[in-house]
Amino acid sequence: MLISDKWLSHGSAGTFDLIDPSTGLRVTEVPMGGPNEAGKAVAAASAAAPAWRRFPPHKRRDLLLRLADLISANRDLFGTVAAVEQGLPGGSIYARHCAEWVRYYAGWSEKIHGTVNPSYPVDALAYVVKEPYGVVAVITPFNESLSALGMKVAPALAAGNCVVVKPPEQTPLQTTLFARLALEAGIPPGVLNVITGGPAAGEALVRHADVRKVSFTGGIRTARAILKAAAETVTPVVTELGGKSANIVFADGDWQAGARLSAMNACVNIAGQGCMFPTRLLVEESVHDAVVEEVRRLLAPVTIGDPADDATEMGPVIDRTAMDRIMGVIERAATHSKLIVGGKRRGGDLADGFFIEPTVFDDVDPDSELAREEVFGPVLAITSFRDDAEAVAIANGSEAGLAAYLYTDNLRRAHSIARELEAGTVGINGMTTVPPTFPFGGYKQSGVGREGGQDGLLEFLQTKTVYVPLGEA
Ligand code: NAD
Repeated sequence: MLISDKWLSHGSAGTFDLIDPSTGLRVTEVPMGGPNEAGKAVAAASAAAPAWRRFPPHKRRDLLLRLADLISANRDLFGTVAAVEQGLPGGSIYARHCAEWVRYYAGWSEKIHGTVNPSYPVDALAYVVKEPYGVVAVITPFNESLSALGMKVAPALAAGNCVVVKPPEQTPLQTTLFARLALEAGIPPGVLNVITGGPAAGEALVRHADVRKVSFTGGIRTARAILKAAAETVTPVVTELGGKSANIVFADGDWQAGARLSAMNACVNIAGQGCMFPTRLLVEESVHDAVVEEVRRLLAPVTIGDPADDATEMGPVIDRTAMDRIMGVIERAATHSKLIVGGKRRGGDLADGFFIEPTVFDDVDPDSELAREEVFGPVLAITSFRDDAEAVAIANGSEAGLAAYLYTDNLRRAHSIARELEAGTVGINGMTTVPPTFPFGGYKQSGVGREGGQDGLLEFLQTKTVYVPLGEA
């Protein structure tokens, strides 16, 4: 844990074991923080806040740029850490993404400005300024613990806030490495603090009266608990939550590319543990059989195994609890849908790790658990549809609304369906990783607030109006 410039290797709640999900073996022990450490970290952040808020913005920019350079320079180390604590193959790419986000928000540091607004009936000078909140709590999920720092910590710091991060219990080391680099970059002690631990540490931060804003990424149940706790102090909370994103593939589009997007993301990339992955593949009836064959063909040669090996495409899921939960979903889905790929744990050399095969179900009822609930594991659900209206109705039939995708070469159809989809991001004929330049976030129960672009910066600024009457009252 990092409080100001002091590293702690024990917490008031002791320590917990960090487990390598590829082997099931203990890697190290991590301090377990709680209300005691949360209080100290918030005090350190509060002490640093007045100076950081007044820190010259161009110097804030330069420190963040230096941090981005250090993240880039250490991308292989980040990759190694992600392989060990998360079972993630090719993890250095996330360091590249994170560095891009930090660079992007570094540039905003010296572009934050207010407005001068007209006033009537009283003639007045009224100007509006954007100010930091002070101390912000950032609570992150296991699957994107490093990316989340680029998406949350970078804009929070650029806006002049001090931050306390509570990383996920399964993957704290990418965050402590990020914090080490922040100190090395010259970001003053107390501006960024890290409290490792479980829900109690996160909850203590949310309930702390001096935390003025919370930015949370994680699951819907945790979000409900955080929103209830934050209600006590009326603390605003950004919530970036789960998804059940539909990928609508029409016969008139590049259905091979559509099949690839779902197969490789829902079933392979991060072992399917991605919030915006296209986990529901909706296919127009006339190309259904061809798409199913394509998905089978793509998944057959996937290399599953040691995430540290360059040839590995797919690693394990995060822990035993997740593995057991996902296997339960697969067993229940098999009672009503057609299992066409996978469905089992990996045995042999991989039996001690938490490996699940890429798994695909066909003929999935849109009202079933598999079609409605986020699995957060390597499981894809295929459903066929007859026409545009049915495709949109199925896509919008989930309470999640993070992202949606469609494949068609018909321009009119593409944009009219994009307008109908209840999702914060719509990808037409493809999906990129989320760049820092545009807003990303959920509709419906996928969350409130945005990350990325100017919207993501504004989440960390509050608005003050200063008013001076000039004429006769
Ligand atoms: P999680 O909700 O279990 O945990 C997230 C974080 O919240 C962890 O740091 C955890 O310790 C903390 N926490 C747990 N209980 C808490 C409490 N009562 N008070 C405060 N903090 C608490 O989520 P997870 O399993 O780590 O991540 C997976 C989820 O995150 C999925 O649902 C996924 O879709 C979602 N996610 C969303 C996005 C997005 O941008 N929308 C991105 C990545 C992940």
